[in-house]
Amino acid sequence: MSIDKQHLRDLPSVDRVLREIPQLIDRWGQERVTVVVRAALEQLRGTLQAGACNKSELLQQVTGQVSARLEQDAQGSLLSVFNLTGTVLHTNLGRASLPDAALEAVLSAARHPSNLEYDLHTGKRGARDDHVAGLICELCDADAATVVNNNAAAVLLTLNTLADKAEVPVSRGELVEIGGSFRLPDIMHSSGCVLVEVGTTNRTHLKDYQGAINANTAMLLKVHTSNYRIHGFTHSVAATELAQLAHHHDLPLVIDLGSGNLVDLGGYGLPAEPTVKQTLDSGADLVTFSGDKLLGGPQCGIIAGKQELITSIKNNPLKRALRVDKMTLAALAEVLKLYRNPDRLAQQLPTLAALTRAPTVIRAQAERLAPGLAQALAPRYTVTVSACQSQIGSGALPLETLPGYALEIRAADASDAAIRELAATLRRLPTPVIGRINNSACYLDLRCLDREQDFIAQLGYLRSLMAPPIPTQAGIS
Ligand SMILES: *Cc1c(COP(=O)(O)O)cnc(C)c1O
Repeated sequence: MSIDKQHLRDLPSVDRVLREIPQLIDRWGQERVTVVVRAALEQLRGTLQAGACNKSELLQQVTGQVSARLEQDAQGSLLSVFNLTGTVLHTNLGRASLPDAALEAVLSAARHPSNLEYDLHTGKRGARDDHVAGLICELCDADAATVVNNNAAAVLLTLNTLADKAEVPVSRGELVEIGGSFRLPDIMHSSGCVLVEVGTTNRTHLKDYQGAINANTAMLLKVHTSNYRIHGFTHSVAATELAQLAHHHDLPLVIDLGSGNLVDLGGYGLPAEPTVKQTLDSGADLVTFSGDKLLGGPQCGIIAGKQELITSIKNNPLKRALRVDKMTLAALAEVLKLYRNPDRLAQQLPTLAALTRAPTVIRAQAERLAPGLAQALAPRYTVTVSACQSQIGSGALPLETLPGYALEIRAADASDAAIRELAATLRRLPTPVIGRINNSACYLDLRCLDREQDFIAQLGYLRSLMAPPIPTQAGIS
Protein backbone atom coordinates (compact mmCIF):
# COMPACT_ATOMS: atom_id res chain seq x y z
CA MET A 1 0.00 0.00 0.00
CA SER A 2 1.28 3.46 -0.94
CA ILE A 3 1.83 6.08 1.74
CA ASP A 4 -1.03 8.14 0.26
CA LYS A 5 -3.53 5.31 0.49
CA GLN A 6 -2.47 4.59 4.05
CA HIS A 7 -3.06 8.20 4.79
CA LEU A 8 -6.56 8.23 3.33
CA ARG A 9 -7.36 5.37 5.65
CA ASP A 10 -6.69 7.71 8.55
CA LEU A 11 -9.67 9.81 7.47
CA PRO A 12 -12.53 9.23 9.90
CA SER A 13 -15.72 7.59 8.63
CA VAL A 14 -18.94 9.59 8.29
CA ASP A 15 -20.37 7.77 11.34
CA ARG A 16 -17.26 8.48 13.38
CA VAL A 17 -17.58 12.23 12.67
CA LEU A 18 -21.33 12.23 13.37
CA ARG A 19 -20.72 10.61 16.80
CA GLU A 20 -18.46 13.54 17.60
CA ILE A 21 -21.02 16.28 16.93
CA PRO A 22 -24.39 15.45 18.58
CA GLN A 23 -25.04 19.13 19.33
CA LEU A 24 -24.78 20.04 15.62
CA ILE A 25 -27.17 17.19 14.71
CA ASP A 26 -29.56 18.42 17.34
CA ARG A 27 -29.51 21.91 15.89
CA TRP A 28 -29.40 21.30 12.15
CA GLY A 29 -30.85 17.79 11.81
CA GLN A 30 -29.26 14.42 10.99
CA GLU A 31 -29.84 14.62 7.26
CA ARG A 32 -28.36 18.06 6.70
CA VAL A 33 -25.33 17.41 8.92
CA THR A 34 -24.62 14.08 7.20
CA VAL A 35 -24.59 15.80 3.80
CA VAL A 36 -22.16 18.44 5.05
CA VAL A 37 -19.90 15.83 6.72
CA ARG A 38 -19.74 13.82 3.48
CA ALA A 39 -18.82 16.93 1.54
CA ALA A 40 -16.13 17.91 4.05
CA LEU A 41 -14.59 14.41 3.95
CA GLU A 42 -14.71 14.41 0.17
CA GLN A 43 -12.93 17.72 0.05
CA LEU A 44 -10.26 16.60 2.53
CA ARG A 45 -9.64 13.43 0.52
CA GLY A 46 -8.74 15.58 -2.47
CA THR A 47 -6.34 17.85 -0.63
CA LEU A 48 -4.80 15.49 1.91
CA GLN A 49 -1.02 15.51 1.95
CA ALA A 50 0.84 12.48 3.19
CA GLY A 51 1.97 12.90 6.77
CA ALA A 52 0.11 16.18 7.19
CA CYS A 53 -1.73 15.26 10.36
CA ASN A 54 -2.63 12.37 12.60
CA LYS A 55 -6.02 10.72 13.10
CA SER A 56 -7.31 12.88 15.91
CA GLU A 57 -6.17 16.05 14.21
CA LEU A 58 -8.04 14.95 11.10
CA LEU A 59 -11.21 14.35 13.09
CA GLN A 60 -10.93 17.79 14.62
CA GLN A 61 -10.35 19.37 11.26
CA VAL A 62 -13.45 17.73 9.80
CA THR A 63 -15.74 18.69 12.69
CA GLY A 64 -14.41 22.25 12.60
CA GLN A 65 -15.12 22.54 8.90
CA VAL A 66 -18.57 21.02 9.26
CA SER A 67 -19.48 23.43 12.04
CA ALA A 68 -18.22 26.45 10.10
CA ARG A 69 -20.04 25.36 6.96
CA LEU A 70 -23.34 24.89 8.79
CA GLU A 71 -23.03 28.33 10.41
CA GLN A 72 -22.19 29.92 7.09
CA ASP A 73 -25.17 28.34 5.33
CA ALA A 74 -27.46 29.53 8.11
CA GLN A 75 -26.47 33.14 7.48
CA GLY A 76 -28.34 33.39 4.22
CA SER A 77 -27.25 35.73 1.52
CA LEU A 78 -29.51 38.77 2.00
CA LEU A 79 -27.50 40.96 4.34
CA SER A 80 -27.88 44.43 5.71
CA VAL A 81 -25.20 46.72 4.24
CA PHE A 82 -24.02 50.29 4.69
CA ASN A 83 -25.04 52.25 1.61
CA LEU A 84 -22.16 54.72 1.35
CA THR A 85 -22.39 54.94 -2.44
CA GLY A 86 -23.80 58.45 -2.36
CA THR A 87 -26.97 57.30 -4.14
CA VAL A 88 -29.78 57.54 -1.62
CA LEU A 89 -32.40 55.46 -3.45
CA HIS A 90 -30.09 52.74 -4.75
CA THR A 91 -32.07 50.10 -6.62
CA ASN A 92 -29.36 47.44 -6.14
CA LEU A 93 -29.28 48.18 -2.43
CA GLY A 94 -33.02 47.96 -1.88
CA ARG A 95 -34.13 51.59 -2.46
CA ALA A 96 -36.09 53.20 0.40
CA SER A 97 -35.55 52.23 4.06
CA LEU A 98 -38.78 52.13 6.03
CA PRO A 99 -39.63 54.28 9.05
CA ASP A 100 -40.12 52.60 12.45
CA ALA A 101 -43.90 52.94 12.36
CA ALA A 102 -43.98 50.95 9.12
CA LEU A 103 -41.67 48.27 10.55
CA GLU A 104 -43.93 47.76 13.54
CA ALA A 105 -46.97 47.48 11.28
CA VAL A 106 -45.17 44.93 9.09
CA LEU A 107 -44.28 42.83 12.12
CA SER A 108 -47.82 42.83 13.41
CA ALA A 109 -49.32 42.05 10.00
CA ALA A 110 -46.84 39.22 9.54
CA ARG A 111 -47.21 37.74 13.00
CA HIS A 112 -50.98 37.81 13.50
CA PRO A 113 -54.12 37.31 11.44
CA SER A 114 -55.57 40.61 10.26
CA ASN A 115 -58.70 42.02 8.61
CA LEU A 116 -56.79 42.11 5.31
CA GLU A 117 -59.86 41.29 3.23
CA TYR A 118 -62.50 41.35 5.90
CA ASP A 119 -64.91 44.18 6.69
CA LEU A 120 -65.16 44.50 10.46
CA HIS A 121 -68.42 46.51 10.21
CA THR A 122 -70.40 44.10 8.10
CA GLY A 123 -68.58 40.90 8.92
CA LYS A 124 -68.35 40.27 5.20
CA ARG A 125 -65.54 40.08 2.71
CA GLY A 126 -63.56 43.32 2.26
CA ALA A 127 -60.97 44.52 -0.23
CA ARG A 128 -57.27 44.66 0.60
CA ASP A 129 -56.74 47.90 -1.31
CA ASP A 130 -59.16 49.68 1.02
CA HIS A 131 -56.49 49.86 3.73
CA VAL A 132 -54.53 52.38 1.64
CA ALA A 133 -56.80 53.65 -1.14
CA GLY A 134 -58.47 56.27 1.07
CA LEU A 135 -55.12 57.64 2.19
CA ILE A 136 -53.77 57.80 -1.34
CA CYS A 137 -56.91 59.64 -2.52
CA GLU A 138 -56.67 62.05 0.39
CA LEU A 139 -53.00 62.83 -0.28
CA CYS A 140 -53.21 63.28 -4.02
CA ASP A 141 -56.78 64.40 -4.41
CA ALA A 142 -57.72 61.41 -6.55
CA ASP A 143 -61.16 59.78 -6.90
CA ALA A 144 -59.81 56.26 -6.55
CA ALA A 145 -56.58 54.30 -6.26
CA THR A 146 -55.20 50.78 -6.31
CA VAL A 147 -51.86 49.17 -5.48
CA VAL A 148 -49.82 46.47 -7.22
CA ASN A 149 -46.40 44.85 -6.92
CA ASN A 150 -44.35 47.72 -8.39
CA ASN A 151 -44.65 50.55 -10.87
CA ALA A 152 -43.72 48.28 -13.76
CA ALA A 153 -46.77 46.19 -12.81
CA ALA A 154 -48.87 49.36 -12.50
CA VAL A 155 -47.97 50.38 -16.07
CA LEU A 156 -48.46 46.83 -17.38
CA LEU A 157 -51.86 46.42 -15.73
CA THR A 158 -53.08 49.86 -16.80
CA LEU A 159 -52.11 49.27 -20.44
CA ASN A 160 -53.55 45.76 -20.47
CA THR A 161 -56.82 47.00 -19.01
CA LEU A 162 -57.28 50.09 -21.16
CA ALA A 163 -55.48 49.25 -24.39
CA ASP A 164 -55.29 45.49 -25.04
CA LYS A 165 -54.82 45.01 -28.82
CA ALA A 166 -55.31 48.74 -29.33
CA GLU A 167 -52.91 51.55 -30.16
CA VAL A 168 -51.11 53.77 -27.67
CA PRO A 169 -49.16 56.74 -29.06
CA VAL A 170 -46.00 57.58 -27.07
CA SER A 171 -43.37 60.20 -27.75
CA ARG A 172 -40.07 58.72 -29.02
CA GLY A 173 -38.26 60.80 -26.43
CA GLU A 174 -40.12 59.00 -23.65
CA LEU A 175 -39.38 55.39 -24.62
CA VAL A 176 -37.14 54.97 -21.61
CA GLU A 177 -35.20 52.13 -20.09
CA ILE A 178 -34.97 52.19 -16.34
CA GLY A 179 -32.30 50.14 -14.61
CA GLY A 180 -31.99 47.64 -17.44
CA SER A 181 -35.05 45.58 -16.58
CA PHE A 182 -37.81 48.11 -17.23
CA ARG A 183 -37.96 49.08 -20.88
CA LEU A 184 -41.13 50.86 -21.80
CA PRO A 185 -41.42 49.33 -25.30
CA ASP A 186 -41.05 45.82 -23.80
CA ILE A 187 -43.64 46.43 -21.08
CA MET A 188 -46.02 47.82 -23.69
CA HIS A 189 -45.50 44.78 -25.86
CA SER A 190 -46.10 42.42 -22.91
CA SER A 191 -49.29 44.27 -22.03
CA GLY A 192 -50.78 43.43 -25.42
CA CYS A 193 -51.07 47.01 -26.66
CA VAL A 194 -49.60 48.40 -29.86
CA LEU A 195 -46.97 51.06 -29.37
CA VAL A 196 -47.20 53.91 -31.84
CA GLU A 197 -44.08 56.05 -31.71
CA VAL A 198 -44.72 59.71 -32.33
CA GLY A 199 -42.35 62.65 -32.82
CA THR A 200 -38.58 62.34 -32.70
CA THR A 201 -36.09 61.68 -29.94
CA ASN A 202 -35.63 65.36 -29.12
CA ARG A 203 -38.86 66.97 -30.30
CA THR A 204 -42.46 65.88 -30.12
CA HIS A 205 -45.36 68.24 -30.84
CA LEU A 206 -49.06 68.12 -30.19
CA LYS A 207 -49.65 67.64 -33.94
CA ASP A 208 -47.58 64.43 -33.79
CA TYR A 209 -50.05 62.96 -31.30
CA GLN A 210 -52.94 64.38 -33.29
CA GLY A 211 -51.74 62.62 -36.43
CA ALA A 212 -51.45 59.31 -34.60
CA ILE A 213 -54.96 59.21 -33.19
CA ASN A 214 -57.39 56.97 -35.08
CA ALA A 215 -60.34 54.67 -34.40
CA ASN A 216 -58.02 52.05 -32.91
CA THR A 217 -56.36 54.39 -30.40
CA ALA A 218 -57.19 53.46 -26.80
CA MET A 219 -55.37 56.07 -24.72
CA LEU A 220 -52.49 58.52 -24.65
CA LEU A 221 -49.45 57.77 -22.51
CA LYS A 222 -46.90 60.21 -21.19
CA VAL A 223 -43.82 58.90 -19.41
CA HIS A 224 -41.70 60.88 -17.03
CA THR A 225 -38.16 60.52 -18.38
CA SER A 226 -36.91 59.85 -14.91
CA ASN A 227 -33.32 58.96 -15.47
CA TYR A 228 -32.19 61.16 -18.32
CA ARG A 229 -32.80 64.53 -19.81
CA ILE A 230 -32.27 65.85 -23.31
CA HIS A 231 -30.84 69.35 -23.55
CA GLY A 232 -30.75 71.79 -26.40
CA PHE A 233 -33.25 71.82 -29.25
CA THR A 234 -36.06 69.96 -27.54
CA HIS A 235 -39.78 70.04 -27.21
CA SER A 236 -42.31 67.89 -25.47
CA VAL A 237 -46.02 68.34 -24.95
CA ALA A 238 -47.15 69.46 -21.52
CA ALA A 239 -49.61 67.29 -19.62
CA THR A 240 -52.34 69.95 -19.80
CA GLU A 241 -52.19 70.18 -23.60
CA LEU A 242 -52.04 66.41 -23.98
CA ALA A 243 -55.01 66.00 -21.64
CA GLN A 244 -57.06 68.42 -23.74
CA LEU A 245 -56.23 66.51 -26.90
CA ALA A 246 -57.01 63.13 -25.29
CA HIS A 247 -60.32 64.31 -23.87
CA HIS A 248 -61.30 65.92 -27.17
CA HIS A 249 -61.05 62.42 -28.66
CA ASP A 250 -62.69 60.81 -25.65
CA LEU A 251 -59.48 59.03 -24.71
CA PRO A 252 -57.92 58.76 -21.27
CA LEU A 253 -54.47 60.23 -20.60
CA VAL A 254 -52.21 58.07 -18.43
CA ILE A 255 -49.00 59.52 -17.01
CA ASP A 256 -46.27 57.22 -15.70
CA LEU A 257 -44.56 59.47 -13.17
CA GLY A 258 -41.93 56.95 -12.12
CA SER A 259 -40.81 58.26 -8.77
CA GLY A 260 -43.93 60.25 -8.08
CA ASN A 261 -43.83 62.38 -4.96
CA LEU A 262 -46.73 63.40 -2.81
CA VAL A 263 -45.33 66.66 -1.44
CA ASP A 264 -43.59 69.63 -2.96
CA LEU A 265 -39.92 68.79 -2.47
CA GLY A 266 -39.01 72.43 -3.03
CA GLY A 267 -40.31 73.06 0.48
CA TYR A 268 -37.48 70.86 1.83
CA GLY A 269 -34.80 72.64 -0.15
CA LEU A 270 -34.77 69.89 -2.77
CA PRO A 271 -35.23 70.30 -6.52
CA ALA A 272 -38.94 70.44 -7.27
CA GLU A 273 -40.74 67.88 -9.43
CA PRO A 274 -44.45 67.78 -10.22
CA THR A 275 -46.40 66.02 -7.47
CA VAL A 276 -49.00 63.35 -8.12
CA LYS A 277 -51.72 65.84 -7.21
CA GLN A 278 -50.40 68.47 -9.64
CA THR A 279 -50.22 65.84 -12.38
CA LEU A 280 -53.83 64.81 -11.82
CA ASP A 281 -54.83 68.47 -11.66
CA SER A 282 -53.19 69.04 -15.02
CA GLY A 283 -55.70 66.66 -16.53
CA ALA A 284 -54.22 63.16 -16.34
CA ASP A 285 -56.93 60.54 -15.86
CA LEU A 286 -54.54 58.07 -14.25
CA VAL A 287 -51.10 58.43 -12.73
CA THR A 288 -48.76 55.53 -11.91
CA PHE A 289 -45.77 55.73 -9.56
CA SER A 290 -43.46 53.66 -7.34
CA GLY A 291 -43.83 53.12 -3.62
CA ASP A 292 -40.12 52.75 -2.88
CA LYS A 293 -38.61 55.69 -4.73
CA LEU A 294 -39.16 59.27 -3.51
CA LEU A 295 -42.28 58.18 -1.63
CA GLY A 296 -39.96 56.35 0.78
CA GLY A 297 -42.17 53.32 1.30
CA PRO A 298 -42.18 49.60 0.49
CA GLN A 299 -41.82 48.23 -3.03
CA CYS A 300 -45.17 48.66 -4.77
CA GLY A 301 -46.80 50.50 -7.64
CA ILE A 302 -49.66 52.91 -7.12
CA ILE A 303 -52.31 53.78 -9.69
CA ALA A 304 -54.44 56.80 -8.82
CA GLY A 305 -57.10 58.72 -10.73
CA LYS A 306 -60.59 58.37 -12.17
CA GLN A 307 -62.98 56.02 -10.39
CA GLU A 308 -64.32 54.16 -13.43
CA LEU A 309 -60.84 53.51 -14.83
CA ILE A 310 -59.61 52.22 -11.46
CA THR A 311 -62.67 49.97 -11.24
CA SER A 312 -61.85 48.40 -14.64
CA ILE A 313 -58.25 47.94 -13.56
CA LYS A 314 -59.32 46.23 -10.35
CA ASN A 315 -61.61 43.91 -12.32
CA ASN A 316 -58.80 42.80 -14.63
CA PRO A 317 -57.85 39.19 -13.70
CA LEU A 318 -54.19 40.23 -13.97
CA LYS A 319 -54.71 42.43 -10.90
CA ARG A 320 -54.92 39.24 -8.82
CA ALA A 321 -51.53 38.14 -10.14
CA LEU A 322 -49.94 41.51 -9.40
CA ARG A 323 -51.50 42.27 -6.01
CA VAL A 324 -49.40 43.21 -3.00
CA ASP A 325 -49.18 41.24 0.22
CA LYS A 326 -50.32 42.27 3.67
CA MET A 327 -46.86 43.34 4.84
CA THR A 328 -46.55 45.77 1.95
CA LEU A 329 -49.97 47.23 2.63
CA ALA A 330 -49.21 47.56 6.34
CA ALA A 331 -45.97 49.43 5.61
CA LEU A 332 -47.48 51.60 2.91
CA ALA A 333 -50.37 52.70 5.12
CA GLU A 334 -47.96 53.85 7.84
CA VAL A 335 -45.73 55.70 5.39
CA LEU A 336 -48.70 57.46 3.83
CA LYS A 337 -49.95 58.54 7.26
CA LEU A 338 -46.64 60.35 7.83
CA TYR A 339 -47.45 62.52 4.82
CA ARG A 340 -50.40 63.96 6.70
CA ASN A 341 -47.91 66.07 8.61
CA PRO A 342 -45.39 67.43 6.10
CA ASP A 343 -43.72 69.52 8.83
CA ARG A 344 -42.38 66.41 10.54
CA LEU A 345 -41.85 64.33 7.41
CA ALA A 346 -38.14 65.08 7.09
CA GLN A 347 -37.55 63.72 10.60
CA GLN A 348 -39.82 60.71 10.31
CA LEU A 349 -39.23 59.38 6.82
CA PRO A 350 -35.70 57.93 6.39
CA THR A 351 -35.54 58.70 2.66
CA LEU A 352 -36.39 62.35 3.16
CA ALA A 353 -34.15 62.53 6.23
CA ALA A 354 -31.20 61.33 4.12
CA LEU A 355 -32.05 63.65 1.23
CA THR A 356 -32.30 66.69 3.48
CA ARG A 357 -29.33 66.01 5.78
CA ALA A 358 -27.38 69.22 6.20
CA PRO A 359 -23.84 69.20 4.74
CA THR A 360 -22.47 70.58 8.03
CA VAL A 361 -23.90 67.58 9.90
CA ILE A 362 -22.41 65.13 7.39
CA ARG A 363 -19.08 66.92 7.57
CA ALA A 364 -18.98 66.70 11.35
CA GLN A 365 -19.69 62.98 11.12
CA ALA A 366 -16.91 62.54 8.56
CA GLU A 367 -14.49 64.32 10.86
CA ARG A 368 -15.49 62.09 13.78
CA LEU A 369 -14.98 58.92 11.74
CA ALA A 370 -11.85 59.75 9.74
CA PRO A 371 -9.22 59.15 12.46
CA GLY A 372 -10.60 55.71 13.43
CA LEU A 373 -10.85 54.59 9.83
CA ALA A 374 -7.38 55.92 9.07
CA GLN A 375 -6.01 53.91 11.97
CA ALA A 376 -7.73 50.73 10.78
CA LEU A 377 -6.34 51.13 7.25
CA ALA A 378 -2.82 52.37 8.01
CA PRO A 379 -0.21 52.18 6.65
CA ARG A 380 -1.43 51.01 3.22
CA TYR A 381 -4.15 53.65 2.89
CA THR A 382 -4.77 57.24 3.90
CA VAL A 383 -8.11 58.80 4.77
CA THR A 384 -9.22 62.40 4.29
CA VAL A 385 -12.55 64.19 4.54
CA SER A 386 -13.64 65.55 1.18
CA ALA A 387 -16.65 67.40 -0.21
CA CYS A 388 -18.76 65.37 -2.61
CA GLN A 389 -22.06 65.35 -4.46
CA SER A 390 -24.68 62.72 -3.64
CA GLN A 391 -27.47 61.60 -5.92
CA ILE A 392 -31.12 60.96 -5.23
CA GLY A 393 -31.15 57.78 -7.30
CA SER A 394 -33.75 55.43 -8.78
CA GLY A 395 -34.11 57.75 -11.71
CA ALA A 396 -35.48 60.53 -9.55
CA LEU A 397 -34.20 63.99 -10.42
CA PRO A 398 -31.20 62.58 -12.31
CA LEU A 399 -29.34 65.81 -12.89
CA GLU A 400 -29.69 67.26 -9.45
CA THR A 401 -27.00 66.49 -6.92
CA LEU A 402 -26.87 67.14 -3.21
CA PRO A 403 -23.72 68.57 -1.62
CA GLY A 404 -22.27 66.39 1.11
CA TYR A 405 -19.08 64.88 2.51
CA ALA A 406 -17.24 61.62 2.08
CA LEU A 407 -14.31 59.78 3.57
CA GLU A 408 -11.83 59.69 0.71
CA ILE A 409 -9.52 56.70 0.89
CA ARG A 410 -6.35 56.57 -1.20
CA ALA A 411 -3.71 53.86 -1.45
CA ALA A 412 -0.19 54.75 -0.31
CA ASP A 413 1.11 53.19 -3.54
CA ALA A 414 -1.58 55.12 -5.50
CA SER A 415 -2.54 51.98 -7.41
CA ASP A 416 -6.01 51.13 -8.67
CA ALA A 417 -5.40 47.51 -7.66
CA ALA A 418 -4.99 48.54 -4.03
CA ILE A 419 -8.24 50.52 -4.16
CA ARG A 420 -10.11 47.58 -5.67
CA GLU A 421 -8.67 45.33 -2.97
CA LEU A 422 -9.83 47.76 -0.30
CA ALA A 423 -13.36 47.88 -1.75
CA ALA A 424 -13.43 44.08 -1.71
CA THR A 425 -12.29 44.04 1.93
CA LEU A 426 -15.01 46.52 2.88
CA ARG A 427 -17.55 44.22 1.25
CA ARG A 428 -16.34 41.31 3.40
CA LEU A 429 -17.20 43.03 6.69
CA PRO A 430 -20.04 41.49 8.76
CA THR A 431 -22.17 44.44 7.65
CA PRO A 432 -20.63 45.07 4.23
CA VAL A 433 -19.68 48.67 3.44
CA ILE A 434 -20.45 49.69 -0.14
CA GLY A 435 -18.65 52.82 -1.31
CA ARG A 436 -17.91 54.36 -4.68
CA ILE A 437 -14.65 54.14 -6.63
CA ASN A 438 -13.64 57.16 -8.65
CA ASN A 439 -10.29 58.62 -9.77
CA SER A 440 -8.18 55.97 -8.01
CA ALA A 441 -9.89 56.64 -4.69
CA CYS A 442 -12.64 54.95 -2.73
CA TYR A 443 -15.27 57.37 -1.42
CA LEU A 444 -17.52 56.54 1.50
CA ASP A 445 -20.30 59.11 1.14
CA LEU A 446 -21.75 59.52 4.63
CA ARG A 447 -25.13 60.98 3.64
CA CYS A 448 -26.89 57.68 4.38
CA LEU A 449 -24.85 56.61 7.40
CA ASP A 450 -27.40 56.55 10.21
CA ARG A 451 -25.86 53.66 12.18
CA GLU A 452 -22.63 55.38 13.12
CA GLN A 453 -21.92 53.22 16.18
CA ASP A 454 -22.35 50.03 14.16
CA PHE A 455 -19.91 51.39 11.59
CA ILE A 456 -17.36 52.19 14.30
CA ALA A 457 -17.83 48.77 15.90
CA GLN A 458 -16.55 47.12 12.72
CA LEU A 459 -13.31 49.06 12.52
CA GLY A 460 -11.40 46.62 14.72
CA TYR A 461 -12.43 43.74 12.52
CA LEU A 462 -11.54 45.77 9.44
CA ARG A 463 -8.04 46.26 10.84
CA SER A 464 -7.68 42.51 11.30
CA LEU A 465 -8.67 41.93 7.66
CA MET A 466 -6.02 44.25 6.32
CA ALA A 467 -2.96 42.42 5.02
CA PRO A 468 -0.10 42.66 7.51
CA PRO A 469 2.27 45.50 6.68
CA ILE A 470 5.44 44.66 4.80
CA PRO A 471 8.18 44.22 7.42
CA THR A 472 10.59 47.14 7.71
CA GLN A 473 14.36 46.70 7.69
CA ALA A 474 14.34 46.88 11.45
CA GLY A 475 11.71 44.15 11.58
CA ILE A 476 13.80 41.76 9.49
CA SER A 477 17.05 42.15 11.37
C1 LIG B 1 -38.76 53.49 -11.85
C2 LIG B 1 -39.71 53.67 -12.95
C3 LIG B 1 -40.52 52.62 -13.37
C4 LIG B 1 -40.45 51.26 -12.74
O1 LIG B 1 -40.88 51.32 -11.40
P1 LIG B 1 -40.62 50.07 -10.43
O2 LIG B 1 -41.35 50.45 -9.19
O3 LIG B 1 -39.15 49.97 -10.29
O4 LIG B 1 -41.21 48.88 -11.10
C5 LIG B 1 -41.40 52.84 -14.40
N1 LIG B 1 -41.47 54.04 -15.01
C6 LIG B 1 -40.69 55.09 -14.65
C7 LIG B 1 -40.81 56.38 -15.38
C8 LIG B 1 -39.80 54.93 -13.60
O5 LIG B 1 -39.01 55.95 -13.23
